[in-house]
Amino acid sequence: MSDIPMPGVELSNYINGEWRFANCEHWIDDYAPATGEHIASIPCSSSEDIDAAVEAALNAADDWAALSIAERAGWLEKIAEELEERAEEVAQLESLDTGKPITLARSVDASRSVANFRFFAEQGREFESEIFEMKDATNRVVYKPVGVAGLITPWNLPLYLLSWKVAPALLMGNTVVAKPSELTPMTASLLAEVMEAVKLPAGVFNLVHGNGLDAGAPLTSHPDVNLISFTGGTATGREVAKSASSGFKKLSLELGGKNATIVRADVDIANMMPGIVRASFLNQGQVCLCGSRILIHESIYDSFVGAFLEAVSNMVVGDPSDEETELGALISEDHQNKVLSYIDLAEDEGGTILCGGGPPVGIPEAFDNGYWVSPTVIDGLAPDSRCATEEIFGPVVTLHPFSDDEEAIEIANMTDYGLAGSIWTADTEAGSKMAERIDSGMVWVNCWLHRDLRVPFGGVKNSGVGREGGQWSLGFFSEAINICVKH
Ligand code: NAP
Repeated sequence: MSDIPMPGVELSNYINGEWRFANCEHWIDDYAPATGEHIASIPCSSSEDIDAAVEAALNAADDWAALSIAERAGWLEKIAEELEERAEEVAQLESLDTGKPITLARSVDASRSVANFRFFAEQGREFESEIFEMKDATNRVVYKPVGVAGLITPWNLPLYLLSWKVAPALLMGNTVVAKPSELTPMTASLLAEVMEAVKLPAGVFNLVHGNGLDAGAPLTSHPDVNLISFTGGTATGREVAKSASSGFKKLSLELGGKNATIVRADVDIANMMPGIVRASFLNQGQVCLCGSRILIHESIYDSFVGAFLEAVSNMVVGDPSDEETELGALISEDHQNKVLSYIDLAEDEGGTILCGGGPPVGIPEAFDNGYWVSPTVIDGLAPDSRCATEEIFGPVVTLHPFSDDEEAIEIANMTDYGLAGSIWTADTEAGSKMAERIDSGMVWVNCWLHRDLRVPFGGVKNSGVGREGGQWSLGFFSEAINICVKH
């Protein structure tokens, strides 16, 4: 943090339809993870900025809520169109700000952000209130806005996750105050530019930059914020839950994971390998759903590990702007150090590093100051070791043999997390049955991150509270009121 902004882009807050500099004495520096270069400064906003944003959102709430859901769906469509026009810019900014490969930023971040607004626009157009008839009365369920929604997002999929919250929040008639991660502020600012360009009424969407303690915490405890949708780490989620609970705010927590990838003995290794590698390392392993523990049937352990190591060693790590690159940099120096410390710990815990283990060799000099860790595969760890049960959130996977389905399920359920998992098998029926016994919010069979936006998304145990996606988002971002009329 510095007292004056460093050279580079200076981002401001977007409050009540205006760009405003924060009431801050300090600036937060934003660095490009691939090079370590300073690219932007954001205000270290305070509770005064949050107060101003919440006041703007509150003032705009009645008029926004008075629109029909079809009218609000029309606004989402306009936002989607404007965002689509700027899709390449979104991809370039996201790749620069996160260090992820440009191809991934295009195919996932940019396109999914547009898809989120379009999807919820469609949901709004199809939306119908439920009617429950009794012999002598009719019940009609009305979905009212909750009020001001506080939306807090992490750095791994910045606009993808922000748009996943903003779209349903606006659709259901809420006004919004968003606080993105201080590490990846760029595309949140771009989204505010989109809101300005489409002339969304002032105060409906507000953006406050800053860090979690100075800007995030005042948002979660603000008495006029009625709903918090938070995506981030489990420890932060615990703080957010404490802060939000005293005001009985509606709360959704999408938290960390330590997901198991189960490879059964009957798997077609060659056919499934690309999917398993993708599940392990997409976005440098910085997707909450990534399978960071691979459980392999003992009868195919050696052949699987050989094929897996060959596939991993062929991954192209390096310049995120190169179209051939498959793996980029980690988000920050702190995060790089955390990931490297887990690799050290793995050795202390008796693990063997089969590949990777440090920064990649041979990437161009321009990336010497970036935050790099090459894809790392570790075996020989006990399934209940710290490295195999704590979230590392980087390009690190641990390998574990199992003797039968029962043992695989036992290992998969051995952590405090319960977000996702995948099962790879020739017997889809057995895989599907096994999936029911995994304590996770989402389990894929023979695929991973194959997303249908209509289905519930969320975790169990320490991976979260509540569900988002399709009708679950519409329910969360509204208050269902029943009106019973006696005939
Ligand atoms: P994080 O450190 O928990 O931060 C998430 C957001 O919360 C950031 O905007 C952060 O601000 C803010 N924050 C921090 N302290 C806060 C507080 N006391 N009150 C309110 N807000 C606060 O998580 P991260 O490192 O950004 O993201 C990685 C984590 O997110 C991983 O654990 C990953 O599994 C999880 N994740 C989960 C999902 C899911 O759907 N389940 C999806 C993606 C990521 P600053 O960082 O700016 O200080």
